[in-house]
Amino acid sequence: MKSVDAVVIGGGPAGIAAAVAAARAGRKTVLLEKAPFIGGIPVKGYMTTLCGLYKSRPGSGLPEMLHDGFAREFAGLLTDLDGVEGPFQMGRAWVLPFCPESFSAAARRLLEDQANLEVRCEARFCEAAVSGKRIALLTYTADDKVYRVQPRTVVDASGDAVVCRAAGARLLFPDIARQVPAITFPLYNVRINEISGFPAVRWQMMIRHGVDDGDLPPGADYVDFLPSPDPGTLLVKLNLGSLVKTDAQIPEQELAQRANAIKAHLIGFFRRCFSGFENCTTPDESSPVLHREGARGRGGYVLTNPDVLSAAKFSDAAARGCWPVEQWDENGHFSADYPAGGQYYEIPGRCLRSAEIENLFMAGRSISADSGAIASTRVIGCCMATGEAAGKLAAESLR
Ligand SMILES: Cc1cc2nc3c(=O)[nH]c(=O)nc-3n(C[C@H](O)[C@H](O)[C@H](O)COP(=O)(O)OP(=O)(O)OC[C@H]3O[C@@H](n4cnc5c(N)ncnc54)[C@H](O)[C@@H]3O)c2cc1C
Repeated sequence: MKSVDAVVIGGGPAGIAAAVAAARAGRKTVLLEKAPFIGGIPVKGYMTTLCGLYKSRPGSGLPEMLHDGFAREFAGLLTDLDGVEGPFQMGRAWVLPFCPESFSAAARRLLEDQANLEVRCEARFCEAAVSGKRIALLTYTADDKVYRVQPRTVVDASGDAVVCRAAGARLLFPDIARQVPAITFPLYNVRINEISGFPAVRWQMMIRHGVDDGDLPPGADYVDFLPSPDPGTLLVKLNLGSLVKTDAQIPEQELAQRANAIKAHLIGFFRRCFSGFENCTTPDESSPVLHREGARGRGGYVLTNPDVLSAAKFSDAAARGCWPVEQWDENGHFSADYPAGGQYYEIPGRCLRSAEIENLFMAGRSISADSGAIASTRVIGCCMATGEAAGKLAAESLR
């Protein structure tokens, strides 16, 4: 049976950063990802905007990189690959546009270049055996075989606290009513150049009329549009508030089916009614339901909504965040509450380390934070920062 210094579960933004950080600290590291590809939600959801990297500089309001280390390095690789000039402003915040293919390429480059690191895709973590207060054994499946590994430390970057859960640690649960899931899909071959600006509000109005007139099913108007660095592409986000409002217990498969039925109606509507969208296409696949919030592990501290809004600082700060508390509720409403004075808040190391299991660390969407705080820390830039910090803490704990 193999013994390794650090096992990272989940190859999303947090897990990529955690694995690279632990390996760079000289620890023999294994990254396990159940999907056939690395990247997590940004790749699965064809995301095009990387949030949580920049704060606004006091006075000028211009963007200023918030993070040193991995997130900064990743952003540099992305801007090179996509040839973008830099971030653009969305509300009061700054976001970096990117193509999902470049996200995959940047992640691959950083992971493949790394000594001490083994990456396994289509490798699903299943069980954690705890001895005393430590995880002694992890079980995962890959290629229809069962594998066991003895980890000295574990980072749970699964987005749903799967390791914390399996190890019997206490969990914090999502607030579904205020943080509804969504599907996202790209539209290609849109003649955006012929359209002045990016008239998302006008498109939303037309869709709302489509619903009122019965051309589109109810719920189709919970929709949002995001630009992409690729000139003929945009990202459509369909929030599923109307579906979870009527049935909060709706099974995941049925939710996906109903969401994808609305998506098919929307695409037909775009082609018929939107100028420049006549020949738009989207990948011929069902869009997965994406959850903004999953279960989280409980650490020595639970980061709170007031911590984020008051831009709290901590003596054991391990990472920073600045994104607003962004909520998408079941009535289709969106709200964004910003940290005070445009400042950043800090995330204590205690939020990244399990309160009960000594060699278990949490990163990204799995950190110890309440529903309000996670609505800020869950953005990609902040997940990379907590991922890197968790990887370093795991490595340091082995000294
Ligand atoms: C609808 C929606 C829109 C969003 N839009 C944006 C946006 O525009 N900009 C932005 O910055 N952020 C956005 N986000 C937030 C952001 O994408 C996620 O919060 C972020 O990707 C979380 O990173 P993570 O690494 O913690 O988790 P994830 O990205 O969820 O990655 C977790 C990984 O763990 C893997 N995993 C899970 N269980 C196991 C297991 N048992 N074994 C092995 N692997 C496992 C999963 O397959 C996954 O790849 C959005 C989120 C949603 C849901």
